[in-house]
Parts: sequence; structure tokens; C-alpha cells
Amino acid sequence: MPEQLVVVGGGVGGLSAALALARAGHTVTVVERDPLPATADAEEAFVAERRGAPQVHQTHGFLARILVALRERFPDVLEGLLSVGGMTMPTTSNLGEPQPGDEDLAVLIVRRTTFEWVLRQAVLQQTGVTFRTGVGALGPTARGDGHGGPPIVTGVRLDDGTSLAADAVIASTGRRGAVPDWLAAIGVDVPETVRESGLMYLSRWYRLPAGFDLGLDPKLGGDLGFVKYLAVPGDGGTLSITLAINPEDSDLRRALSDDDGFEEACRILPGPDLFFRDGPLEPVGGVRPMGGLLNRIRRFTDADGAPTVLGFHAIGDAHTCTNPLYGRGCSLAMVQALLLADAFAAHPGDVAARAATYEAASEREVEPWFEVSVQMDRAGADPAGFGGIGSGDGPGKALAAVFVAAMTDPVLGRGFARFWNLLATPAEMLGDADVMTRMAEVMADPDAWPVPERVGPKRSELLAALAAHATQTTQEASVA
Ligand SMILES: Cc1cc2nc3c(=O)[nH]c(=O)nc-3n(C[C@H](O)[C@H](O)[C@H](O)COP(=O)(O)OP(=O)(O)OC[C@H]3O[C@@H](n4cnc5c(N)ncnc54)[C@H](O)[C@@H]3O)c2cc1C
Repeated sequence: MPEQLVVVGGGVGGLSAALALARAGHTVTVVERDPLPATADAEEAFVAERRGAPQVHQTHGFLARILVALRERFPDVLEGLLSVGGMTMPTTSNLGEPQPGDEDLAVLIVRRTTFEWVLRQAVLQQTGVTFRTGVGALGPTARGDGHGGPPIVTGVRLDDGTSLAADAVIASTGRRGAVPDWLAAIGVDVPETVRESGLMYLSRWYRLPAGFDLGLDPKLGGDLGFVKYLAVPGDGGTLSITLAINPEDSDLRRALSDDDGFEEACRILPGPDLFFRDGPLEPVGGVRPMGGLLNRIRRFTDADGAPTVLGFHAIGDAHTCTNPLYGRGCSLAMVQALLLADAFAAHPGDVAARAATYEAASEREVEPWFEVSVQMDRAGADPAGFGGIGSGDGPGKALAAVFVAAMTDPVLGRGFARFWNLLATPAEMLGDADVMTRMAEVMADPDAWPVPERVGPKRSELLAALAAHATQTTQEASVA
């Protein structure tokens, strides 16, 4: 039974939900506060303002989970991404002979702005979808069910003074959306658990020279404890580099917020240095800082698992938000959009059943990643795979050996790649007998898998090198 739906928020989650639900025959209005002027290509999309989702201009990696979701549910969008310069990169190249299942273990390399632009084009062309851009939602309208049950949402109020009636409202309002306040206004409590990541991003974009060869096994991430870093190529010959630091580290923050200091650090840090080996790169803009990087989960069910609101569903960061360092957010937003579309398909017109089905599916497939992210933050985890997770003797040493082995061991490597890429939940990985057996073997003989020494400067050395570089640059400028 086709329904009238409103999706609030036109980011990755909202666009995915609009596409899946419209393709299932529903009529969808997407309300997006940003004006989203028409952009002709990926380059125009890259320079377009995106005040409501400023992270689009930060480094983004796309895990295998989103690639699989695109292949299975939106193959036309995947084709579009590849046709504008998106690339896939296997995660199994160090793991020996190819094996069945390896076709799923690849990541997608594309700018976040390009990803969203291609997805938006698909939604714009989709029959049954209308966009209302440049207008914000103020919150839902609701009615009681007459029996003291949860409120039933009937539409949204907009900041242009109008309202939209809807059979259901889907909130994909991102990290900063006001969902708990909205629902408090209709008498629904949304408990949330927040765990700060303790990181801020400092990112800068560059253009790579034509034909730049990354080599077979580029080191795109690293962790020196005081700085974690990512260098991720994108479509259109672009490269984004992120240095993630503790926002309280004011010396490092000051030194790396400077365009020159940032670039000098990139020449020094192992990984980013690879891109500067043949000389300077053309920068695209200056260093872009971004803080407020948290893990957060919100509850839309009571202690018995019963939905606390009907006809209203939060997806993406508005529901479950994870530390961006692990690159999970876009995958989880699309997965949740698809879980919601599946719940609509399974329970046509039944607001209670589909809310319960959707929240149960989110609990199974999405929420575990909140806990994993929080635990990884606590362990000081390394995006490259093993860094700070335990060393020394005893259990720490044995665990570190597992992470080292996973870099080349065919069984552990594939098991961990499925886990890092959200293709296996923590419970599924723990239930994989082959992975567990191999893990036990490695842990029994950790000396066979020594942790490679961290390569790179100490914090004091990096700061000294940046100070010396700044002095030299100032002297050269005064001579000139
Ligand atoms: C620094 C940083 C780096 C990241 N790196 C990665 C990465 O490498 N890989 C990855 O997968 N994920 C990454 N993420 C996470 C990813 O960007 C988010 O998880 C993803 O964007 C979530 O999609 P969403 O649709 O929930 O929200 P968003 O994409 O943020 O979209 C929310 C939209 O809602 C709109 N909106 C909000 N309120 C209203 C309103 N009241 N009315 C109308 N419109 C409204 C906003 O304008 C915005 O367009 C990163 C995040 C950050 C902050």
C-alpha cells in the first residue's frame, strides 16, 4: 500500500531511504535545510557549500559494507560512482591466493561530495520523490492513539510556516539534528548515551599529478599515538589528508592548523609522505578543522523493546553515530535506510510492527558498532589495524600478535577484514570457528608475530621539526 512519507535530511541516510522507499512505490518528500543548488558534475559538487553536513569536506573512506549494499540494492548508483572516477580497492591483496568471498572485500575510493552527488542524482531522477530544499523541519506533528499508546506522528512543521502531512516521518538529520528535542515536544523521551572520541580532525585537500602511481600496497593510515592519520585518494585526481589529534593538545593543534605546518608534517609522517615524494602537491584550500567527533546511541524503544513513538523513524547519525576514524558512518546510514525500507515492505501500513521490526534490526546490525567504536577508542585503536591495541607481555602481547597476523594470514586477515568492513558483526566473527581456531593458535605463540616498531617521529620531534620549518620559512620570506 503506497504511503506518503517525509524524509528530513538529504545526506547519505536520507537519500538512501528516499531512493529505497520510492522504488518500493511510496511517495516521498525530502526536506533539506541546505539549499543544494544544482551542480553539473563532481567538481561543482565538491565546491558547493554544505553547512548542514560540513563533514562532507573531510576525509571519507567507504567500507566494503556500503559497496556491497550499493551492488545489491542500488547497482545504478554504484555504476554512476564508478563512471565518474570512483574506484574500488581490494583489502585482500596481502592475504595470499584469492578465495570465494573476496569479491565483497573491497573499499570504495571516492570523495564524499561525489558520493552524495551521484546518490542525489539518482534520487532526483526517481519517480515519486519531491525535494524541498532550503527549508528546515521544526519537528513532528502527532496524535494519540486513543488507548494511551505511543504518539503517532502525522507530519512535520517547516520553518517557512507550512506543514507537511505524512503517514510516516523519517529523520535523517545527522549528528547535529534535534531529534530528542523534537520528540520531547510530543511527550517522548529519547535516552541517549554519548562517548566522546577525544579526537579532532585537521584535513586538507590536494590534487595529485596526472598518472600518480600509488603503488601496490599504499599505507593510507597510521597511528603514532599523539597523531592518527589518514591519506585517502579520491576521484578527480584528489587526495585528502587528515591528521587526527587530541583537541586539548594546543601546541600540536596550533602547529598543524597552519597550512605550511600541516604540509610539512605530511612530508614527515610515514604514509602521507608517500604522496609528497616527487615534490609539492597543488593544495585545494587550507586546513579544515572539525571537532565534536563523538559516539552516540539513541533509544526509540522502551525496556521491553516496544517502540516509544510510531510513524517516526530515526536513521543514520540521528540514531547511531560512531567515531569517524573507523569510517563506519555512511555505511551504517545506508544500511539503516535499507533496514527501514525492508521493515516498510514487511509490514505495509502497520506502524507498530514496522517500528518494532526496524528497531530490532538496528539493534542487531547497527548498534553493535557503537560499542565496538567505544571499545576501540578506549584501546587507542589504530586505523591501520593493530597499533595501540595491546603490547608488552601477557594478554596484551597475545592480542597484539593477532592484529599483526591479520595483516597477512589468509584466515585471520579475511575474518578481520569482514569485521572492520562491517560485513560480520562482532557476534558473527566470534562465531566463526576457523577465525577463532586460528586466533587461538596465534595467541599461543605470540613471539612468532612480533609487533613492528612504530615508525615516525615522537611528538616532541615533530613539534621541533615544525618549529624549525616555520623559522626557516619566515627567514626566507624576510630575505625575499
Ligand atoms: C569528520 C568526519 C569524518 C567522517 N568520515 C567518515 C568516513 O570516512 N566514512 C564514513 O562512512 N563516514 C564518515 N563520517 C560519518 C558520515 O559523514 C556520517 O555518518 C553520515 O554523513 C551520516 O549520514 P546522515 O544522513 O545520518 O547525516 P548527514 O549526512 O550529516 O545529513 C544530515 C542532513 O540533514 C540536514 N538537516 C539537519 N537538520 C535538518 C532539519 N531540521 N531540517 C532539514 N534538514 C535538516 C542537514 O542539512 C544534512 O544535509 C565522518 C564524519 C565526520 C564528522
